[in-house]
Amino acid sequence: MLSKVGGRYRVFVGGDTVVASLRGRLKQASRDRILVGDSVTLDVHEDGSITIEGVEPRTSILKRRNPGKSVGVRAVAANIEQIVVVGAARRPEWHPHLIDRFVAVAEANQLTAVIVINKCDLVEDCNESLQPYQLAGYSVLATSVPRRSGLETLRAQLAGRISLFTGPTGVGKSSLLNALQPGLRLRTGEVSERAQVGRHTTVAAEMYPFGNAGFVVDTPGLRDVGLWGLEPQEVEAAFPEIRRTGSECRFHDCRHRGEPGCVVAQAVERGRIAPSRLESFHALLDEAIRAARPWA
Ligand code: GDP
Ligand code: ZN
Repeated sequence: MLSKVGGRYRVFVGGDTVVASLRGRLKQASRDRILVGDSVTLDVHEDGSITIEGVEPRTSILKRRNPGKSVGVRAVAANIEQIVVVGAARRPEWHPHLIDRFVAVAEANQLTAVIVINKCDLVEDCNESLQPYQLAGYSVLATSVPRRSGLETLRAQLAGRISLFTGPTGVGKSSLLNALQPGLRLRTGEVSERAQVGRHTTVAAEMYPFGNAGFVVDTPGLRDVGLWGLEPQEVEAAFPEIRRTGSECRFHDCRHRGEPGCVVAQAVERGRIAPSRLESFHALLDEAIRAARPWA
């Protein structure tokens, strides 16, 4: 299912988009009964109308957290397989801790993260910024829209999957997608800034068929996915290289802050874990602990 407008659902079928409504039985189900990204079964009626008859089991559900609110979690999209975290080499500056935040949210949702540094035309060398993620075992790539560099690698990375692009505003997410698929015409930079004046507070997700193989889910409301709150246990699980190495620390609850026998500290010294990743880990953990105990 690509998008929902009112009670109508746009569904991608056989290379085409059709509009369907929900069969009565499904309407009774709970609130988020059909999500963007869902695989649905359709029935075509004699009068040409199309109804959604059922939903296939989901492989993942991306949830939006509202820490502190009574309605804590809301399903946003189903069956997303990878989160493409995009940052810029410059304009805006590459902030490893901000990137780490987006990557950690992907991990907390059990989704594969791919790290992209865009605007590589503005600096001499993009690869240095990617090194912490390479060490951690992530797929990384460097791109430039005006030079069209890295675009084919990115296309190959999207093929056959449902992907969600996240990252700070202005790093070139829409530009990258538009460059790969000119018909897409996602709103870029200046236009969307202006459109935000008076926009509705909830912006629904929408999925675009991408090339002939993959799908990209977009929603302005989801682009700030990296700012969602995480639980302390989620943070501990969200840095795969720290989690793996940390299992060998002398203390099983080692927080890697100078405890004796800390294998993570050794790995940082030996250049196997980037210092910036450990700093992000500590910052996110402190933040999560403070949020979990607001009185502390
Ligand atoms: P988004 O907010 O992440 O979707 O970012 P946009 O796609 O709207 O891009 C923000 C601005 O950066 C626009 O003015 C783009 O033209 C510009 N931009 C995007 N990609 C590149 C790039 O690779 N190099 C340079 N120099 N500018 C870029
Ligand atoms: Zn340790």
